[in-house]
Amino acid sequence: MSSDANIPAPALPPLAPGTLYLVATPIGNMEDITLRAIRTLRECDLVAAEDTRRTGHLLRHFDINRRMVSCFAHNERRRSEEILRLLQSGGKVALVSDAGTPGISDPGARLVRGAIDAGLRVESVPGPCALVAGLVASGLPTDEFHFVGFLPNKSGQRARELDRLLALPGTLVLYESPYRVEKLLGELVVKAPARQVVLAREMSKRHEEYLRGLPAELARVWSERPRKGEFVVMIDGGDGLAAEVPPAPAEQEPA
Ligand code: SAM
Repeated sequence: MSSDANIPAPALPPLAPGTLYLVATPIGNMEDITLRAIRTLRECDLVAAEDTRRTGHLLRHFDINRRMVSCFAHNERRRSEEILRLLQSGGKVALVSDAGTPGISDPGARLVRGAIDAGLRVESVPGPCALVAGLVASGLPTDEFHFVGFLPNKSGQRARELDRLLALPGTLVLYESPYRVEKLLGELVVKAPARQVVLAREMSKRHEEYLRGLPAELARVWSERPRKGEFVVMIDGGDGLAAEVPPAPAEQEPA
């Protein structure tokens, strides 16, 4: 890499017409935005945002003034059609979610599929993503991992899904609401008592912390001081073994 200040930096190519840019944005700390994300937001024709108020705040922070439309779970189908039309006429569109990488437990997949099917160009503008940030700081293996976003809410579905996931090899990575972390720890005490768990909380923010331990240890820590904020939960891999529920005691042979 050249460090000669006299050599001008190569001019970056302008944004390509008819391209959908998937722009990752900070998950807490504004300093985590990339230079390319800023340039893409500044030079695109339209910002499609999960929440225009939140993205408006981000754009103002970086002194960017672009036209915005909302694109969230309940209008993604209709909005995708409008955005595809703009792309087909040569427009440059940046898709952003509230935080992190669009399409990861956030809207985006439908629009991306539509753009690809229409023969349009799609480019990632990579950057923050809570799952990657949590996994790499967890200390758990990163060579094989399974990410499933949020677990279902309904107890039957949730228990079945957890059993299925705990039987997989590799580190399990979940997003969890602060209101359900305690419930999840209780489930893990029963279903995976010997697995190491890491709770990555409020990453890149003032109260960032990593709680590591067995489910019962973390459940005790939580009961002493429940935490607030955003969490990524990592669970050590099961090596393909079924959930480690202690075996039922063997039946006594009648004497
Ligand atoms: N698209 C985002 C990404 O790339 O990470 C994730 C969106 S999902 C709706 C939001 C969830 O991500 C939160 O409920 C939490 O589980 C996790 N999350 C987001 N920011 C976080 C942070 N700063 N620290 C810990 N977890 C975070």
